Amino acid sequence: LGTLKKISKAEIKGLKHLANNNIVRVFQALGIAVQERYQYIVGPCPIHEGDRTDAFSWHLELGIYQCFTKGCHDTYGKDVFGLVRGVLKCTFLESVNFINKLFNDGNVDLSLLAAIDSTKQFVEASLAVTAPEKTFPEEVLNRLKYHNYLETRGYPRDIVERYQIGIPSDNFGLMSHRVIFPIRNIEGKLVGFSGRTLYPDWKERGIGKWHHSKGFRKEANLFNIDKAKRYIEETGSVIITEGPLDVLRFEHAGIHNSVAIFGRKLHNKQITLLMTAGAARLIVALDSDIAGQTGAEDAFNNASAFFTVNKVKLPTKDVGEMSVEDVRKVFAA
Ligand SMILES: [Zn+2]
Repeated sequence: LGTLKKISKAEIKGLKHLANNNIVRVFQALGIAVQERYQYIVGPCPIHEGDRTDAFSWHLELGIYQCFTKGCHDTYGKDVFGLVRGVLKCTFLESVNFINKLFNDGNVDLSLLAAIDSTKQFVEASLAVTAPEKTFPEEVLNRLKYHNYLETRGYPRDIVERYQIGIPSDNFGLMSHRVIFPIRNIEGKLVGFSGRTLYPDWKERGIGKWHHSKGFRKEANLFNIDKAKRYIEETGSVIITEGPLDVLRFEHAGIHNSVAIFGRKLHNKQITLLMTAGAARLIVALDSDIAGQTGAEDAFNNASAFFTVNKVKLPTKDVGEMSVEDVRKVFAA
């Protein structure tokens, strides 16, 4: 690796950008044979060098990799420097120098590149990742009061209370006359609310069945990730459901590693969250109607680069309609 050069933070950022945008060159330099696919690159893990030909995947858009046989990304770090460290078994500084030698022979001002990056998509992506999400103080929950709506639908009161679900005790704007589910990020901070209408004739009224609080980024969150995290880590598995009610059904059945994706599409940030939580296997429990199946196909093709994906055929339309006994029968692994 030669003499080590001290490289500034801004330069490191510029180098990372260069490397991410020319990642195939990095693979070549490291002697890694891979296959390029639509949004990711797959191959055997170059770090632990196992037999499995798809153990390793590099996500082109996110600029991170995952080794799902041995979790090498956890040992060395998920970004390009982590990859170099893992393959060359070197230090972080050595990995930075390796990338620097590969891309920068002194002609490129890396700090400038980091500062005036013209690739709009890159800037947007990094902003979206780093911009702090709006959080709510816990006191907001004082504005909710218990309502028996969920109990009448077979969800035990202790679960409803554990999730602090209630109806607004004062005017909540568009969230009025809805059962409100507080949503927390992976650290347990309140980041938004999802409200299910109490009107049985919501269609006739022309209102949505579900409504999210203003500014809530559903594509970057997972309902229940804060509580499910330790169970996902323990088991390596996560059950993917559509909405909060499905998660409550699993809780009722004593299954604690489920999350809801607020729809049928699994977004990249949600994939990253699941990786962070330590998921290696996704158990997909989405609606069994045709639209649900099609949605699941599209949404989980990308995920299969990062996780083992098992789709479960549900005996009813959705998990919310299943009895607790059936949920246990189908999902008890
Ligand atoms: Zn590995």
